[in-house]
Amino acid sequence: MGGKLDYCTECGRELKTQHIEGRNRRCCRECDRVEYQNPKPCAGILVVDEDELLLIKRKQPPSVGAWSLPAGYLEADEPPEKAAVRELEEEASLQTTVETLTLVDTVFVRHPDGSHVLVIVYAISRDYTSGEAVAGSDAGAAQYWNIENLEAHETEHQNQDILKPCSELNRSSKTTHS
Ligand SMILES: [Zn+2]
Repeated sequence: MGGKLDYCTECGRELKTQHIEGRNRRCCRECDRVEYQNPKPCAGILVVDEDELLLIKRKQPPSVGAWSLPAGYLEADEPPEKAAVRELEEEASLQTTVETLTLVDTVFVRHPDGSHVLVIVYAISRDYTSGEAVAGSDAGAAQYWNIENLEAHETEHQNQDILKPCSELNRSSKTTHS
């Protein structure tokens, strides 16, 4: 479902904009159906190893070729932490358990098709993962990057917001260690 919806998904008639429940919404001229714009939840995982962060090279649209954190949409009945663990395995071939994840942030991003995505961002230490980081079926590559140099690399544009908690984690881990 895109941001520029022009026709009713119920009766196919044209939509109009109307102020409903505190904001302008698209609704049907005929059947009064309101096309609510609800975000689609997505789970992502930051695997951190001191100064390094695991990124995968995207093979699926959007942003094919960009480096990104392992992430993906939830299945209909899938808790977000389970989705994060599953995506880590599918994209970077690493195994971990839901108990070792820490919720670090929730970030809104805009899909190029206009839809709204809510990324639920978890973090985990590399120590709690097993396996070798190699590209899984859904990724072109999987590699650890130095966090300080991340901005210089070809990361997905909207990722700057998602990766922000990572630099903060890095900073706080440095303070605790010193
Ligand atoms: Zn309608």
